[in-house]
Amino acid sequence: MDLEKYLNTYQFKINLSDGQEVTFKPISVFQLKQLMVSTENSDVAIDNLIASCAPGVDIENLSLHDRFMLFVELRNKSKGSQYDILTICPKCSSQIASVVDLNKLEVITKNVKNDVCVLDDHISVRTTPMTRKIQKKAQERSEGDDAQATILSNIFCITSIILDGKEYCEISDDDKINVFDKGPQSFYDALVKHIEIEYNFGLNFTHEVKCGKCKHKEIVPISVENFFA
Ligand SMILES: [Zn+2]
Repeated sequence: MDLEKYLNTYQFKINLSDGQEVTFKPISVFQLKQLMVSTENSDVAIDNLIASCAPGVDIENLSLHDRFMLFVELRNKSKGSQYDILTICPKCSSQIASVVDLNKLEVITKNVKNDVCVLDDHISVRTTPMTRKIQKKAQERSEGDDAQATILSNIFCITSIILDGKEYCEISDDDKINVFDKGPQSFYDALVKHIEIEYNFGLNFTHEVKCGKCKHKEIVPISVENFFA
């Protein structure tokens, strides 16, 4: 009996933001149990989950947007599209129970108009969307300082530095950090704004909650706390 043949037919395809098609299989009951008892940090757990369900994916170089989209699709195809969430009304503090349909989330398409961020009249930097690799490197270098890790993650999205029109591609991480250490605060502010505007793609993971008690409506981020529970 060729059981494998039947088990492997249960696969799904998803398109990443760069158009690449990825095949993945839903999470198994065994993996689900592993995930729920996992003591690893949740990012590592998500990496391992994606690696086992979508072995063709290069997780390290996947943009964080695509990684998150894969993660949500895994939940969608493994446990169904209905996700029950509980939120607290920001106005009257009553509990609001609602259901998110994961199939109906908006996907913002990747549309980078300008990957160059101008810091001042002389200095610009070219950037790339943040990946796990960039994030991990920033975390390692920050030694547990989360605020520092966030700053370095943004800075490490830089791929080249442009000085008076001349582009320097062979730059080290220290070169990148130096620009912001020695430059004014406005440099970093410009970089953050640039990343927010240009790389605002992927799943719009928000949901409108309506309070049954005070009728307040608000768009809130969706928590993934009970995603696989
Ligand atoms: Zn309310």
